[in-house]
Amino acid sequence: MASETFPAPAFEGSEKRMELDFCSTLAGGAGDLRSLSRQQLDAVLDKASCCIVSSRSNTVFDSYVLSESSLFVYADKVVLKTCGTTRLLDAVPLLLELASGLGLACSRCKYSRASFLFPDAQPAPYTDFNAEAAALQSALGPLGSYGSMAVLGEAATGLQWHIFMAELPGSTHPPTYSLEICMTELCPAKALPFFRTEDFLTAAAVTTRSGIAALLPQAEVDDFVFEPCGYSMNALQGSTLSTIHVTPEQGHSYASFELSGPCLQAFSISGTVAKVAEMFNPGHMTVALSTSVDGHGWDLSCTHLPTALQHRASAHHRHASSGDTTFHSLRKPAPPPGLHALRSVDHEMGGELSRCPSPMAVTSLLSPCPLLDGQSTTAIAQVLAAHGAVSIPDGSQSAIDAHIRRLVTAHDLEDPLYVVDLGCVMRLYNAWQLAMPRVHPFYAVKCNTDGGMIALLAAMGAGFDCASEAEVKAVLSAGAGPDRIVYANACKRPKDVRAAASLGVNLTTFDTESELHKLRRWHPSTAALLRVRADDPAARCQLGNKYGAEMEQVPSLLQAAQQLGINVAGVSFHVGSGATNPAAFSEAIELARTVFDQGLAMGFDMHILDIGGGFCGGSILPDGSVALGDVPVAVNTALAKHFPDEGAVRVIAEPGRYFAEAAASLACMIIGTRDIRSTGKAPTRDYWITDGLYGSMNCILYDHATLSAHPLPPNNNIKGHHDAGTEGMLLVPSTVFGPTCDGLDTVLHDYPLPSLENGDWLVFPNMGAYTLVGACNFNGIDVAHTPVFYVCSAGRPS
Ligand SMILES: *Cc1c(COP(=O)(O)O)cnc(C)c1O
Repeated sequence: MASETFPAPAFEGSEKRMELDFCSTLAGGAGDLRSLSRQQLDAVLDKASCCIVSSRSNTVFDSYVLSESSLFVYADKVVLKTCGTTRLLDAVPLLLELASGLGLACSRCKYSRASFLFPDAQPAPYTDFNAEAAALQSALGPLGSYGSMAVLGEAATGLQWHIFMAELPGSTHPPTYSLEICMTELCPAKALPFFRTEDFLTAAAVTTRSGIAALLPQAEVDDFVFEPCGYSMNALQGSTLSTIHVTPEQGHSYASFELSGPCLQAFSISGTVAKVAEMFNPGHMTVALSTSVDGHGWDLSCTHLPTALQHRASAHHRHASSGDTTFHSLRKPAPPPGLHALRSVDHEMGGELSRCPSPMAVTSLLSPCPLLDGQSTTAIAQVLAAHGAVSIPDGSQSAIDAHIRRLVTAHDLEDPLYVVDLGCVMRLYNAWQLAMPRVHPFYAVKCNTDGGMIALLAAMGAGFDCASEAEVKAVLSAGAGPDRIVYANACKRPKDVRAAASLGVNLTTFDTESELHKLRRWHPSTAALLRVRADDPAARCQLGNKYGAEMEQVPSLLQAAQQLGINVAGVSFHVGSGATNPAAFSEAIELARTVFDQGLAMGFDMHILDIGGGFCGGSILPDGSVALGDVPVAVNTALAKHFPDEGAVRVIAEPGRYFAEAAASLACMIIGTRDIRSTGKAPTRDYWITDGLYGSMNCILYDHATLSAHPLPPNNNIKGHHDAGTEGMLLVPSTVFGPTCDGLDTVLHDYPLPSLENGDWLVFPNMGAYTLVGACNFNGIDVAHTPVFYVCSAGRPS
């Protein structure tokens, strides 16, 4: 889901819409547009750069779901709606020509659209409504000369509705009404059903689960869910059409709803608007109601809007021919100032503001850890805005808990959720730079592939450690170039080596001769780091059993590389994940020196030292330094001793856990309880929660993690600046089970918890490292796509 990219080449959901009515030019009656062949329709759509993905018909009209929105064909009317950067107007000439072959001439044309989310990304003429109207007028021939255009809504804020109408004088058409709703900033929880997650069953299930089916109970529905996300639906009911399109990704989320027909009396307009608003809970919504007959304006004041939307502006336009359009713009009230405000910046305004937020806002967030040289506040602010990061006062667990409580209440959540604090990641990045200034961190993506985390680290200036094509692509799409990636998997699949070659990733690691042969065959120009074994026996997860050449193998590996023509550029090691022993790092650096010397003696250009990962989960101490014990001092001292020439050797590291662990909290609802009272023993309690060992808590098995948890305080009990505690509550040793039917699925044993009920929540802090990445959907319980909500804490807890 978090397929955010930076800078954001985001998808344009806002549609262009064309409605053409035709009259017979033949005395004996004309043909029927529905007799156009599939090839002819394909040719028309090809002009607009889209294609048909699904179709449905009733006795009155044919409906087509397109790769970009929808097409509807009646006997004498066509409605074409296309989103993205499609060229809808290019389809008009061919359509008119095909109609003419059936003895039909266009007698009425209505073209309309909302503002684009990303106007700069549109091809000409869609960058300027005057130019669109002019292009359309010339395509329409004589009818074009009766055209007139209007732009409704506030020019100052860009919340506008554009409409072009042309009608041949004296022509008659049945009345048409159309209700068009456009929404941005969809509530993330409401957007979730529109992702093709692993528990995706059918489009019909999505239509039901999202509430769309209930909106149009009488209609025949043709629905489609795109890969990896996105939803389109056409519905047919007599001669009335409706269509819904959803772009669910946070940062550029968009949904549209349309209901059009000769008479909408069977549908309560106000009720429909209210239900649609409820279904998507958007930050911003526009409503346009057009009629082709006179005198049917629509009053929004009688609509009861369930969400916090407030009426912002209305406009009414009477068309030069007949009929009119009423337009309303609604939005949620402005959130408090701060980063919050970045998020709510209206994307319909062309995203100007969201692309260039105030650097001040970010600088103040980073205090007392100011930005370092070369870091771009604008780039960082863009990431925060694109991921909808909400500002919270500080990074304390109680501030995080308060946010979780707000989310749970506002969206009526039941499923588990993550809150990721990007402010925490920022502070950790800069604390690292201060603690080990010579060591450039390359974040180990496997630890947590969260899109916001990766994009933020890319904006901060980090490099990345990737181990597969998918990880490389995630990093590239977050805006870091291939020169900022080390392919640090010492045994790559052949296809990963080929992917590295084709994606331009030219630094990798090896520890066997067999790997060198793969490099020789598929990526001979790559630089390679020789990974040596250097274990911290006390580390939480050992790696030395599998990776790292022993010292006695080094000479033969270097010789093999020389024979195969592979450029050995340095040395890498990994002391084991969750390492606390400073000596492990200093001894490994000393070892690396001897390998460097062997390589140099053989004529290799040894200039990169990669000190790997293993660093503990980061936490910032009150003085702004980072709690890594004596590890930074050991690293700095060993580097100064063994690699004193800073110009000659570049030092990188591959921390995963360090950045990810503390940044994420997981919240799970309690779904079952049981009291255990056996005579002669103290009472205990059992709980069941919505995530477990097969989900994010797989870290208990694979990462040897010991979890901690606390109850989520109720709304009125979130304490100021103290971490959520359980003082004053009677604590009972409790067992907490996951939701699957496996007895092994037990998360906490004999853990002191107060008395909790179904519907209460448990929060698990420090769940960012090796958690969600290892989750699966065993038992059909979808925890592998647990949603992430971003916050940006303004400073470390005081
Ligand atoms: C997993 C891994 C890392 C990250 O390790 P952490 O202990 O999370 O810092 C770094 N490098 C390599 C090669 C790894 O396999």
